[in-house]
Amino acid sequence: MLNVEDVFKRFEQLHSYSFATINDGYPDIRIAHFVAWDEGGLYFQTMKVKPFYKQLKETKKVAVLSLVSKNEKASHDEMGLSEFPPGFFIRLKGDVKEVDFDQLKQKAKNDSKFMPLVKDIERYPTMTTFVVHRYSGELYDFDFEKKHRDHKLERERFNFNGFDYINCGFVIQKDKCIACGSCYKACTFNAIEKGDKYYKINGSYCDECGSCYSVCPTNAVIAKTPMSEEDRNLANRMLKSYMHSNK
Ligand code: SF4
Ligand code: SF4
Repeated sequence: MLNVEDVFKRFEQLHSYSFATINDGYPDIRIAHFVAWDEGGLYFQTMKVKPFYKQLKETKKVAVLSLVSKNEKASHDEMGLSEFPPGFFIRLKGDVKEVDFDQLKQKAKNDSKFMPLVKDIERYPTMTTFVVHRYSGELYDFDFEKKHRDHKLERERFNFNGFDYINCGFVIQKDKCIACGSCYKACTFNAIEKGDKYYKINGSYCDECGSCYSVCPTNAVIAKTPMSEEDRNLANRMLKSYMHSNK
């Protein structure tokens, strides 16, 4: 599992990224960046005069997302669908708390990487520091055209300081699977392993796209957020018709 330093380094591969908070019941988002890490979590700064500060103080929660791709320009395939060159995104959500300036100076005495944070506050005295001290997140490494490997996706979920998280990937219930292979044929992520008695999903390859869930005749696939029976039946019909005409 990615530790706090690994997570910091992944985010650092892109200098700035999006930090989301809740403002009067609506999501609000802006660009910021992590400036340090230690065993206490991931540190970032903002100014006390900004709405970001007020929202952090009120909700004590944040979500962060960064995308790293070799080509940052959007492009489209011949059908007009978005094309994504290989890359990865990393995201997390967690609990934040403000770090007192005296505490920060104390940290800087023992760990030089906190000194720039102190200097920044001395230069801009409205500045303050927060730490994400509990979080869960995901690293999503994609190669949708399978340019460098035989599967589109490698994903990993992680947590810090006991924050709850759910493993990636859908699950096939062994006792309901009749090994018909429909899910295997429908999965474009190479995430399903064949079996004689039942099939199995490799969670780190699984995009949770729902194709296996839609085609399964015995309802053996557990989706993270199941659809209504009506929507599932519709998806089943559409997918079967697509697969039939693209044989
Ligand atoms: S479609 Fe359902 S029953 Fe068929 S192999 Fe997959 S999980 Fe098993
Ligand atoms: S949810 Fe999608 S990616 Fe995951 S196993 Fe099913 S078909 Fe494959």
